[in-house]
Amino acid sequence: MLRPTNHNLSFCSTVLYFVFVGIFFFDIDFFCTNASGPPNSSHAMNNNKMPDLPFGDINVVVLTDVHSWVGGHPRQEPHYDADLGDVLSFWENLKKHCDEYVDYSADADAANMEQPRNQHRDIFFVNNGDFVHGTGLSQMGVGDEPGNYPGFLIPILEKMPYDAVNCGNHELYSKKNVEYMTRPGGYVDWYGDRYLTSNINKRTGTNTKQLSHGIDSNYDDNNSALGNRYKILHGRNSKLLVFGFLYNMRDTVAPDAGIVVEDVEKVVKKDWFLQALSEEHYDAILVLAHMDLVDPLVEVIRSAIRTQIGEGTPVVFITGHTHYRGVKQLDDLTMTFEAGRYMDTVGFVSFPKKESVRNNNASSLFSHKFLDANQKVLFQDTLGFSRSEDGLTKNGKDLSTFIDQTRQKLGLKKEIGCAPQSYFVERHVDAKDSLWGLYRDEVIPKIFFSSRQTMITIEEEATNEDDDLPMAMLLSKDSWRYDLYNNATLIVDDIDAVAPFNDTVVHFGTYTAKVILKANRTLNEYHDGDDLTWLPTLPNFILIGSLDKYDANSTKYHLYSHEFGAEHVQKILRRLAPKEHGTIKKTEFRSTMIWMAFVDEYWTCDGAVGQLPEWFPTPQSVVQNLNSDEKDYKKLLIAIFVVMVILGLAATVIAMFWIFFQKYLLYQPVMGGGEDDIIEFQDEDIYKVDIAEENDHAGMTSMGEEDPENF
Ligand SMILES: [Zn+2]
Ligand SMILES: [Zn+2]
Repeated sequence: MLRPTNHNLSFCSTVLYFVFVGIFFFDIDFFCTNASGPPNSSHAMNNNKMPDLPFGDINVVVLTDVHSWVGGHPRQEPHYDADLGDVLSFWENLKKHCDEYVDYSADADAANMEQPRNQHRDIFFVNNGDFVHGTGLSQMGVGDEPGNYPGFLIPILEKMPYDAVNCGNHELYSKKNVEYMTRPGGYVDWYGDRYLTSNINKRTGTNTKQLSHGIDSNYDDNNSALGNRYKILHGRNSKLLVFGFLYNMRDTVAPDAGIVVEDVEKVVKKDWFLQALSEEHYDAILVLAHMDLVDPLVEVIRSAIRTQIGEGTPVVFITGHTHYRGVKQLDDLTMTFEAGRYMDTVGFVSFPKKESVRNNNASSLFSHKFLDANQKVLFQDTLGFSRSEDGLTKNGKDLSTFIDQTRQKLGLKKEIGCAPQSYFVERHVDAKDSLWGLYRDEVIPKIFFSSRQTMITIEEEATNEDDDLPMAMLLSKDSWRYDLYNNATLIVDDIDAVAPFNDTVVHFGTYTAKVILKANRTLNEYHDGDDLTWLPTLPNFILIGSLDKYDANSTKYHLYSHEFGAEHVQKILRRLAPKEHGTIKKTEFRSTMIWMAFVDEYWTCDGAVGQLPEWFPTPQSVVQNLNSDEKDYKKLLIAIFVVMVILGLAATVIAMFWIFFQKYLLYQPVMGGGEDDIIEFQDEDIYKVDIAEENDHAGMTSMGEEDPENF
């Protein structure tokens, strides 16, 4: 039930990166550094300098796991100062260079070569998913549709001219998000056939139950991909077959969002996949795979491809999701590459066409570079401009302005306090600069426990109950996403960055310390195969509250958590304390607001103690809610009374009508079919008179009428 996010963050990030960085820079640089270049090139690079990148036959620029960090990190981590507009400028310069590039040395050599070298450079731009959950932008709706969906973020993202876009797990956690991005004219439509969802389907039936293995009984195999299953990208020298996979995300897809994630193992056996591999014409394969670069599913896809088409075609996996930089050569012609997170990295990979790998040493034709999302790195070091600002394109500058204005307009840049020091997520809870330590020891006791205690007291007065029980909280370590820096005055977006999920705090009921401590141990148990690299820093769940203060067997605690993953905690509680019938109840508190209120009250820039902001749930608001509940209750009683009276009246009318109906309207003389039943008039005179009278009446009537045909 955990948000599967950073679990491998520390794993591989050092090992793989340093092992593979810089191994494959040789042959391919030849194209770049030895090429004489066009004599009258008009490309935008300063002094006609070649970009400092290891170009190959096919080149790809990668952004992955941007998580709404479109404004960059200039305040928190000044080195990562490039925003999405800068990346767009970088891309436009690079694309222009590649479009205009002619390799004259290739012409000269062509006569002596078995295969002529490429005269142009093909370059593509891809995004590998996870665009929400990082900053305040991903929580902002539009107009009369406020709420947790990226109404202001998507118009920014849509300015990027990606050739292929993959879907990340974070896009699928919320029904509202799915609805917003899949609505007509929305994000999915915008990218059209470039939006690749090889294993994500729209549910086509009415049954909304997600089955455990990820396949729905109503799943229509032929016609239900959320986006496009695959696409051929056309360059001037090459064709690239591109897929877009998401790991086997099952339980955490938003229920009722109409989305089914199919298991990768099954998809790679499907006809459409095998036919694409066998029947399409292409020079190499690019697999956008939203999963770790060495996820076992990467191997599943790789071996399925190799089984179908053999060894001769280069395959490159653009991976992500685990938020680090890494690269690995899986076989001579297969590379897997992951380019960081939160827009700290602009990834670059290059690889050969299959025609170019007939000679030996094919793996040396694969290359890559991790570019820091830093203006100097992108524009000066890589593109060769003497000043970064010279590399900005009109579209890039417009996008930077658009991002800045949007953030201003939404109040995300509003200054709210000053942090006494920086705090980091990936630190042991007891470390002095631990963000979790700060939350456990200061934020929750001072803001949530104290406010909640006051509210409970008021609620008790209203309900005549007596409850001064202490409180505890069990939170997933993935609740926070970013460090809290004191480089600059804190703005709203700094807090949104720490807590971008804005989870609702939920109440499980009351449990003894013994049960809570046992639940904590169970939640933090590890199983064979678990990644234990986080052990020195953080457990899976963090327990907040002073549970050793009272008798563990008798004193009960109110237990809270975040709504996301609450069912998982509840299952364990039910197992440990079957007699307690706790239910998950939402409180008025949300995770981001608790942080925000803490900064407002305790981290004022002049050091004075502030006060809880107006929007924070107050004891008064609880009283108002209680009163309004009471009013609602009275209204409900009155409504029930009125309905009862109306129903009573209606029943009486129906009953009377029924009696009338039975007695008069349905009355018929007994008319049997047998001769014995015929009632004969004994007095024939009476009968005759009646008939004569009837005939008289008929005659009068006909005489009184005028035949219209006589006029
Ligand atoms: Zn991610
Ligand atoms: Zn992800």
